[in-house]
Amino acid sequence: MSKFSDHNFANQKALIRVDFNVPLDKETFAITDDNRMRAAIPTIQKILKDGGSVILMSHLGRPKDGPEEKYSLKHLVNHLNDLLGFTNSPSGVGGVKFADDCIGASAVELSASLKNGEVLLLENLRFYKEEEKGDEAFAEKLSKLGDVWVNDAFGTAHRAHASTAVIAKYFPREKRFFGLLMEAEVISAEKVLHQSQKPFVAIIGGAKVSDKILIIENLLERATDIIIGGGMAYTFMKAEGGKIGNSLCEEDRLQTAIDLLKKAAAKGVNIHLPSDSIIADKFDANANISTAPSDDIPDGWMGLDIGANASEQFTNVIKHSKTILWNGPMGVFEMAKFQHGTKAVAVAIAEATQHGAFSLVGGGDSVAAVNQFGFADKVSYVSTGGGAMLEYFEGKVLPGIAAVNE
Ligand code: AMP
Repeated sequence: MSKFSDHNFANQKALIRVDFNVPLDKETFAITDDNRMRAAIPTIQKILKDGGSVILMSHLGRPKDGPEEKYSLKHLVNHLNDLLGFTNSPSGVGGVKFADDCIGASAVELSASLKNGEVLLLENLRFYKEEEKGDEAFAEKLSKLGDVWVNDAFGTAHRAHASTAVIAKYFPREKRFFGLLMEAEVISAEKVLHQSQKPFVAIIGGAKVSDKILIIENLLERATDIIIGGGMAYTFMKAEGGKIGNSLCEEDRLQTAIDLLKKAAAKGVNIHLPSDSIIADKFDANANISTAPSDDIPDGWMGLDIGANASEQFTNVIKHSKTILWNGPMGVFEMAKFQHGTKAVAVAIAEATQHGAFSLVGGGDSVAAVNQFGFADKVSYVSTGGGAMLEYFEGKVLPGIAAVNE
């Protein structure tokens, strides 16, 4: 691998795997959240500035069997023009070109005729089954379109697909790069996983214990404190003999919860469970609410957020930490009545960050929460990769990273 920032891409066609898997309005196909597109812009611009050209490839959605209008990347062209500053460009240069197939004659012709400073967007890679299968012949066809391969799709780095990993073998090592986004993701994750300053708190929330077992196990080797909130906390409460009413519980994970608590005790890692909860009489934005100890929730009620005492308890731990990882909300933050705990955690992380802590927020719903509450620029890093970030913190080798490095 060569270092992206040190390389001069003049006169080179850079084939970049980006993650443009953005949500589109079902009727108008307008982009409803362009964060993933924005995240790739610095990488594209660096190459154009060097005097190279760019060929972008991505997936969008989950097409079942070949091309589908609603998953066409053509819906992204206009906005990409805006983001790259091509719209109304005074010099008349630019204008993203679009190939209505990612391989085949049109892709080959358009990429061959691409001039320095120009950008070509290829149609959805997943219109071919070969992409997800990691098909070698398909990867080789893609590889012919560019002189160098840049992987900037952290969101799909945990998949060994044709364009994210298999393609690497068709480029010599010095022609494979991490893009700037990928580089930033890896550097941030490494700061937490392997270079953490202590105290290191991991805040894990969300719905299910089963989704987070591996990440908790891996963090037990590294963190000094683990805060467990959200729906998953109640499985731990019940495992310890608590009364949790109708709160979320994975009965088949009670033993797992006990084992994790035992492991933590043996390793001297402090596990923090919410002392109290905001409880509701139904899972509804307009439910009646009250407060109860998290291990003594009345029958017919369910814990949908951490309580005020728990918020204070968690805030204290967070404020004294030097490294902070946050994955998963503390409650049903999508409903106003149950977002206080998640907000309190975001505030505490922002404060700790201001006082010098390194904080990383990763994983779909906690990222949505920091964005919703306006805290994205108050933490050190917000990861763009949900599943990929989770697997990274589970200690797995991500194929998209290995492919560039090998
Ligand atoms: P995850 O995808 O596992 O991170 O879970 C995120 C989801 O968990 C969000 O949609 C939250 O609404 C939900 N959630 C958080 N806390 C609770 C809770 N106490 N009860 C039910 N669902 C919850």
